[in-house]
Amino acid sequence: MAEMQQNLDIAQIEQEILRCSSLGELESLRIKYFGKKGLITQKFAELKDLDPNKKKEIAKELNLFKSSFEENFSIKKEKLENIELQQVLLNEKIDPSLFYATNERSLGHPINYTKDRIIEYFRNLNFDLCVGPLIEDDFHNFQALNLPEYHPARDMQDTFYFKDFKLLRTHTSPVQIRTMLAQKPPIKMICPGATFRRDYDLTHTPMFHQIEGLVVDEIGKVNFTHLKFILEDFLKYLFGDIKVRFRASFFPFTEPSAEVDISCHFCNGEGCRVCSHTGWLEVLGCGVVDSRVFEAVGYSNVSGYAFGMGIERLAMLTCQISDLRSFFETDLGVLEQF
Ligand SMILES: [Zn+2]
Repeated sequence: MAEMQQNLDIAQIEQEILRCSSLGELESLRIKYFGKKGLITQKFAELKDLDPNKKKEIAKELNLFKSSFEENFSIKKEKLENIELQQVLLNEKIDPSLFYATNERSLGHPINYTKDRIIEYFRNLNFDLCVGPLIEDDFHNFQALNLPEYHPARDMQDTFYFKDFKLLRTHTSPVQIRTMLAQKPPIKMICPGATFRRDYDLTHTPMFHQIEGLVVDEIGKVNFTHLKFILEDFLKYLFGDIKVRFRASFFPFTEPSAEVDISCHFCNGEGCRVCSHTGWLEVLGCGVVDSRVFEAVGYSNVSGYAFGMGIERLAMLTCQISDLRSFFETDLGVLEQF
């Protein structure tokens, strides 16, 4: 009997149950006492060999122990199940108000990301960041940029007009005009922003973004060589190890004018679908500011250069996107890829 009491200490088993900190530990304890080879299971099995009086006494004790165990076990089990459930609920919590959650840090929308990278480059060279209105008048959008009425170059741009002859700006160049009208030279500025033209296909959307730059200083202080140097450096910053070439071109507001190509980084200049098998990608336009633009804003004895680029075009080339319209369709499946 002394042996029995030692093994069946009800207070001790209560403590053992209390100390369990997981359902796994609790189950191990159950197996220890009531498993197939458990201590109590064995003692029940041994009952058959005892004489009837002893058998009755020990059976009573075993049953007392068993019911005490079962009671404590089920209370503890319920507690642990609750704790584990709370843990699961906490870990698997879904916040339906959360539009999109990921552990990966997003670079943002490809257009904003590309725009920010471009701005960062020029801000590091102390270019001022300038903005202007989206709704413009004919003077700032066309006339002051050497695009007088009936100038054939106006056909290059399909313009959204309002009834009162105001218009949605077709480029960010009017910001350059507004800045020159408001400030004396020297000027060193970039102007990013939305622009509008009546176009809609694989490579055109009615709203798109440009960044233009303008540098003006005393005559002789800035020239085409400066422009060439800064744009080559900028394009290498944006695209890495590429070749840059300048092609003579025409813009009404610059003379001379050039279009700038980079060697195709998709095929290393070998020729592919993206570069129309030429090995070159057109990325921006630039030139020395036409004297008639300076006349329009009342500047004299100055020289300057300007450049402009489409942000969508650069984002398509850096993020490898083939359809421009996917930028504006808010398809998370597409945008997530960046
Ligand atoms: Zn190519």
